[in-house]
Amino acid sequence: MKSNLTSLSDLNTLHDYDPNAMSVEQARAFIRQFLTPITGQETVPLHTAWQRTLASDVISPMHIPPHDYSAMDGYAVRAVDCVQGTETLKIIGSSYAGHMFEGSMAKGACVRIMTGALIPDDCDSVVMQEHVTVVGDIIMLNKSVRAGQNIRRAGEDIQQGALVLARGQTIRAAEMGVLASLGLSEVQVYRKLKVAIFSTGDELQQPGTSLLVGQIYDSNRFTLMGLLAGLGVEIIDLGNIQDDKAILKQAMLDAAQQADVIITSGGVSVGEADYIKQLLAEIGEVVFWKIAMKPGRPLAYGKINAGDKIGSSHFFGLPGNPVAVMVTFQQFVRDALLILTGQQPKPAFTLQARCTSPIKKIPGRTEFQRGVVSQTADGEWTVQTTGEQGSGILSSMSKANCFIVLPVALGDVAAGTMVEVQFI
Ligand code: AMP
Ligand code: MG
Repeated sequence: MKSNLTSLSDLNTLHDYDPNAMSVEQARAFIRQFLTPITGQETVPLHTAWQRTLASDVISPMHIPPHDYSAMDGYAVRAVDCVQGTETLKIIGSSYAGHMFEGSMAKGACVRIMTGALIPDDCDSVVMQEHVTVVGDIIMLNKSVRAGQNIRRAGEDIQQGALVLARGQTIRAAEMGVLASLGLSEVQVYRKLKVAIFSTGDELQQPGTSLLVGQIYDSNRFTLMGLLAGLGVEIIDLGNIQDDKAILKQAMLDAAQQADVIITSGGVSVGEADYIKQLLAEIGEVVFWKIAMKPGRPLAYGKINAGDKIGSSHFFGLPGNPVAVMVTFQQFVRDALLILTGQQPKPAFTLQARCTSPIKKIPGRTEFQRGVVSQTADGEWTVQTTGEQGSGILSSMSKANCFIVLPVALGDVAAGTMVEVQFI
């Protein structure tokens, strides 16, 4: 056979290539149809709300800032007293943040004021301290004053009654601050999505124990924990399950009993006893099985019905190979979890970059090569692969800051070609 294959892994993947496998885009759309966001809600203390999803709109109970405040250190004045910009004014008191000026303003007077301090009644402007000369309790202006200058107006950030945050919003650091600025100590969010994870494989040992010949450490469960950690979900860690049909079945049913979503790794490839596929057909439904992507096929998506539990759980059977776990999670599972949590995930951030190294690729599947993208001194984005791209080379994920996304129809990529990179 005449071919340009250079390695055994090329041969294997070519052999493995299945024209009936679903495309990445189709698979995403397919999963999407099955995702109905959870409806349960709870009220949580604001300090625990990070990455949770707002379950109701937040309407501002007040103006932010609540009153007019000084934006500068300087002197609060009446602009009518400062028309020339050369006037002298008498300092009659002071206003500090948290300690307002209690007296009353008079013509030709001013009040020493600090950033964040309340603007005294009858003052309408603040002169920066850099724009005056101070002699005793007299200031001489060096500059004319524009009425209203250097004042943070009540409501200039948020107006009382305004929609501040909408239902479905992820509560990130900024939202935590915004909610606190409104005086709210609690927030109404959707309940946490419960996500059960387990690994499968007789060869797996847990970190911290010693390895027998032929064993490897279970890394996938830990990558998954890391991937899930920032999503505001509850992780139910079910450990490692042996490649035994009865034990697996029980594990899948237990997981479905407790969780909204089950994510497993391993045990879905054609080469090994594909119990999971059979079990899924038995206790739920297999929605699809293969995706035309590399790494990451096969990937199973289905549902599991667990006894008396209302509704079925989503099941993602990720491949066992560690890189494939991360790629499939990021391409399919992450967004699905966010949608189930009531959010509307934004598409991954991508840009076009010049690929500085050639890449071998077989048309017929989308490839997610691990890359390092950077910007040259003259502003051009360039990317190179992290090197060896086998789906067991987990260090490639650690080195990478992006995926180089090579579309289905594309073949070999010559050095210098523009490619799409997706930031991780
Ligand atoms: P499988 O999909 O079960 O055939 O696994 C594919 C490859 O991934 C095999 O080399 C497994 O040993 C490896 N693998 C499966 N599960 C894990 C895991 N949890 N951690 C690390 N490697 C794994
Ligand atoms: Mg296995």
